[in-house]
Amino acid sequence: MRWSLLVVIAAACNGTPAGSGGGGGGDDEPAIDAPRPTSDGQPGVRGVFDPLVTDVTIEIDYEAGAEPYTGQMLGFGDTFDLGVANLDRLFAGKKALTLPRTTATMENIGAVPDQELTVTDLIALAAAHRSQVDTPTKKTYYVVFVGGHFTDANGPNPNVLGVSLGGTGVIAMFKDVIRGTGSVALPNVPRYVEQSTLIHEVAHAVGLVDTGVSMVQPHRDATHGAHCTDDRCVMYWLNEGASDAAAYVQQHVLSNNSILFDAACLADVDALTGGP
Ligand SMILES: [Zn+2]
Ligand SMILES: [Zn+2]
Repeated sequence: MRWSLLVVIAAACNGTPAGSGGGGGGDDEPAIDAPRPTSDGQPGVRGVFDPLVTDVTIEIDYEAGAEPYTGQMLGFGDTFDLGVANLDRLFAGKKALTLPRTTATMENIGAVPDQELTVTDLIALAAAHRSQVDTPTKKTYYVVFVGGHFTDANGPNPNVLGVSLGGTGVIAMFKDVIRGTGSVALPNVPRYVEQSTLIHEVAHAVGLVDTGVSMVQPHRDATHGAHCTDDRCVMYWLNEGASDAAAYVQQHVLSNNSILFDAACLADVDALTGGP
């Protein structure tokens, strides 16, 4: 496939039904790349849109050698511009967003020898290294970039790019999988994939789609959990066709401030923020 951007994002989400189906009939929402239902009672999912929450801080740690792509892309701008633009848009620019964009403002947590990382493993990593805490006016999310693969009852999944662990605010990014989306011809694709995956996972964490953030119009993909039915949206679970993915890229990933959410997802968050 020439354009693997959406395909690969979708590959991450593809773990959701697989994890669910292979889980031996467990009644839990799969943890992979989808938040648990808000009936879990996690307070953070809705809290971030409370007007009293004025600050949103995303903490980023990384395993040694698994750090995010940073810095300038020729003709594009700073790599993290895409994430900043989209996460700012989620909150309509009405909350002070802190998203580190240099490794100097992230933490190197050293080696993580475990290459088969389960939800329990990831929660333990967060417990050991997360340093930002929520306050009445600040909501925090913890992102950790690791090597290896997300692992559930089906074993290690080589296609999962990222996971958002329910209402914990913990997100894991699987650097080896992200890195593997590149090619000699398209060396910047992993950078787009990484930013898009980060946007996708943070959006899950704040409650899209319909897992805390209510829908203005129905657009939840009933078959694929907390995803959007619009294949042009970053919250779509899968874009199977290379031509569709190419169209997505042409429409959305051409500039450093491109918004990757569709109108339906934006309407949902704008209903909470009042919009930009
Ligand atoms: Zn997803
Ligand atoms: Zn959408």
